[in-house]
Amino acid sequence: MSEVPSIAPVVIIGGGAVGVSSLYHLAKAGWKDCVLIEKNELTSGSTWHAAGNVPTFSTSWSIMNMQRYSAELYRTLGARVDYPMNYHVTGSLRLAHTSERMLEFQRVRGMGRYQRMDIEIVGLNDIKSRYPFLETHDLKGALYDPNDGDIDPAQLTQALAKGARDMGAKIVRFCRATSARRESDKWIISTDKGEIRCEFVVNAAGYRAQEVGRMFGRVVPMMVMGHQYLIFDEVAEIAAWSKEHGKKLPLLRDVDSSYYLRQEKTGMNLGPYERICRARWATADDPMPDDFSFQLYPDDLDRLEWYLRDAVERVPILARAGLSKVINGPIPYTPDGNPLIGPIPGVPNAFEACVFTFGIAQAGGAGKVLAEWVTEGKTEWDMWSCDPRRFTNYTDRQYCVDKGMEVYGNEYAIVFPRHIWPAGRNKKLSPLHERLEALGGQFGPYNGWERANWYAQLGDDTSERATETFRREGPWEKRVQEECLAVRDRAGILDLPGFSRFEVDGPGAREWLLSLITGVVPQPGRIGLGYFADDDGRIVTEMSIVALNENSYILITAAMAQWHDREWLEKHLTEGSGIVITDATADFSCQMVTGPASRAILSAVSDGDLSKEWLTHQSARIAGRDCRLLRISFAGELGWEIHSANADTTTIFDSVWECGKSHGLKPFGMFALDSLRLEKGYRTWKGDLSTDYTILQSGLERFIRWDKARFIGKRALVDEKRQGVKKRFVTLTIDASEYDAPYMSTIWRGDEIVGEITSAGHGHRVNKSIALGMVRAAWSEPVTSLEVEMFGERQKATVEADQALWDPHNERIRA
Ligand SMILES: Cc1cc2nc3c(=O)[nH]c(=O)nc-3n(C[C@H](O)[C@H](O)[C@H](O)COP(=O)(O)OP(=O)(O)OC[C@H]3O[C@@H](n4cnc5c(N)ncnc54)[C@H](O)[C@@H]3O)c2cc1C
Repeated sequence: MSEVPSIAPVVIIGGGAVGVSSLYHLAKAGWKDCVLIEKNELTSGSTWHAAGNVPTFSTSWSIMNMQRYSAELYRTLGARVDYPMNYHVTGSLRLAHTSERMLEFQRVRGMGRYQRMDIEIVGLNDIKSRYPFLETHDLKGALYDPNDGDIDPAQLTQALAKGARDMGAKIVRFCRATSARRESDKWIISTDKGEIRCEFVVNAAGYRAQEVGRMFGRVVPMMVMGHQYLIFDEVAEIAAWSKEHGKKLPLLRDVDSSYYLRQEKTGMNLGPYERICRARWATADDPMPDDFSFQLYPDDLDRLEWYLRDAVERVPILARAGLSKVINGPIPYTPDGNPLIGPIPGVPNAFEACVFTFGIAQAGGAGKVLAEWVTEGKTEWDMWSCDPRRFTNYTDRQYCVDKGMEVYGNEYAIVFPRHIWPAGRNKKLSPLHERLEALGGQFGPYNGWERANWYAQLGDDTSERATETFRREGPWEKRVQEECLAVRDRAGILDLPGFSRFEVDGPGAREWLLSLITGVVPQPGRIGLGYFADDDGRIVTEMSIVALNENSYILITAAMAQWHDREWLEKHLTEGSGIVITDATADFSCQMVTGPASRAILSAVSDGDLSKEWLTHQSARIAGRDCRLLRISFAGELGWEIHSANADTTTIFDSVWECGKSHGLKPFGMFALDSLRLEKGYRTWKGDLSTDYTILQSGLERFIRWDKARFIGKRALVDEKRQGVKKRFVTLTIDASEYDAPYMSTIWRGDEIVGEITSAGHGHRVNKSIALGMVRAAWSEPVTSLEVEMFGERQKATVEADQALWDPHNERIRA
């Protein structure tokens, strides 16, 4: 048994598949003397009992990237580190009971092909020929993924451990981290075998991540579920089939019934994600034991009965197999089911690689991503879907439990574009919430804040069921159209609680901002858009900069970017600069009043000078309350944002609403705003704007001031410009009827994939299906004919001129 070294560049806490893969990838990146500490044996957490399925399927681009990388790594790992292991690439069949499910498969197939994976859609005969024991009478078809398979999780972990050790990394088993403290810019990790001083620390403690997080003052947003799979003895037909074909049957996922069924040696392994499920260690009277290494929960089979019956109907030979073992183990969940990989919010030099629900399938990719975070401070792929900063302060214990159970019970559910999951709602309510609800508001959460997505009228179907469709049409669509047209012809009001707001004050604030953004900082009294790039010129974020005076600015950014953007600003603040950043997000609210009648409405209720031009701001009073009027409109019409203290928001709304009635003022929601901004070509953060693209690729050169002496990303952008930008942001109009293009739909030119869609929807003012996306430079010129693959069918698309489809010269917005 090794003793702990006193110094290490990185200490990883936790020796499951993910922690060990992180160690392996750090060593591979040249950080060879990192240390992993494990309180028991390697794999003793969730890893040892995992079923070991390794899917690549995901509806998320970044998760698919991570899983694809894992599968590729596992194919060669054994030979590379000289540690043979059982990894069977069996392929898998995902069954569809409904046409909507087939659409989901088609969509994922397109994404998979873009990631160089040959996923197939197969018909009933094909299913039978690949899996002869299956009942197919009620199926629509299936998705066949040739890359799927299963691996022995313990062997995988040991292989990664051997590879890491061979490169110089150290693993100390039976060594528990007990506390952490900061001393002279270093972390001191106390363990029951002594202290380790390190530069960076990684929480890879799996279902114990919350316990380890507390050592850093962090409440990890997570909960733990009990997940079971059942092992069945040999089935003669399966044994015979395997012998004859020299391979295992493909892994089966009946996603509409919600279980996986895999050949285990010559028997079967059945793992349901049951709808009526069970949280573990979720209440004060059920605390997590101090040690649960290599332990399981008692069998809990009643909940699985329906699934067992269903599986027997699907694969009748299963009825002849005897049940030999039940595995019921802890599996951690974040509120959205994706893991946490990246910087721990507010904690320097500390990272998370924990709360993995599919940690065997994702360990390879997660190790790569984590190592990049530590060694470079950035990742190759945009990994926002797994970034710990995507959850902020609303994720209390009950929220995590409710959401975790919801995700688990719907693990295989189709993700529909307009569907809002019902658990964990109303965490943060706007002062206007009741008023908007009375107007018919149908809400959705944005960083925990409830915002109206659309306004229903009497008789509209507002059920959850109605949103379970990929089609554009739905009860909301007519209302969204009315809302857009009201904004076009009269005026609309949109409540936007939770806009992230940072106040930046201090001498030198202007110079400091100039060094962070690619472009100019607006003059006092004006508003500008600031783009923040990383060293590679890739887009970190976008903020509206409201200049109060030379030394005071308000930065406004997306609700969900709150912790991410705050951290970016704080990270670049040098000590003693005298600049102070205040996060005032929770204190203010914002209402957007926009449309040709907005000036008349606001002149009637406010003392502001509404002749001030576009991109200016001023303090004003409405109904005796202070506010700031920003002359901007993300909807692309004449308009203002009214920013006011929360306490004043209802009074201001009532005054605007009352006066607005005679001008045809209508409330509008986020769905309408999305449609309106698409027509203007305005990008959204982490949809169109992400670290997958540079500022130049995103068509934002007008926001770069090349003559500035320095700004983050300048060198990379200069190089890119010199060499020629390889892909470009475009607006496409698509000959689409029923659907708009889903995120990451592939763009084709003949037989070649030439780009991808980053956001899309229907523009009601121009009456077109619009998509924003990235296309190889050669095909990005206006009126180029392309095709967009949507749910398996290619639709004609045209590259539009590099200007907004609506009001291209901004005449309406400047009116
Ligand atoms: C029944 C079941 C079946 C599953 N099947 C699959 C599957 O088929 N495919 C798949 O991808 N995933 C599956 N999973 C999920 C998978 O098991 C986990 O996602 C994965 O094991 C997580 O790995 P990890 O390294 O993050 O965490 P863990 O394996 O839990 O490792 C964390 C480690 O941290 C250690 N630790 C904790 N606290 C400390 C401390 N203070 N100091 C030192 N060490 C500490 C623990 O001892 C533990 O070994 C399944 C889970 C269950 C329950």
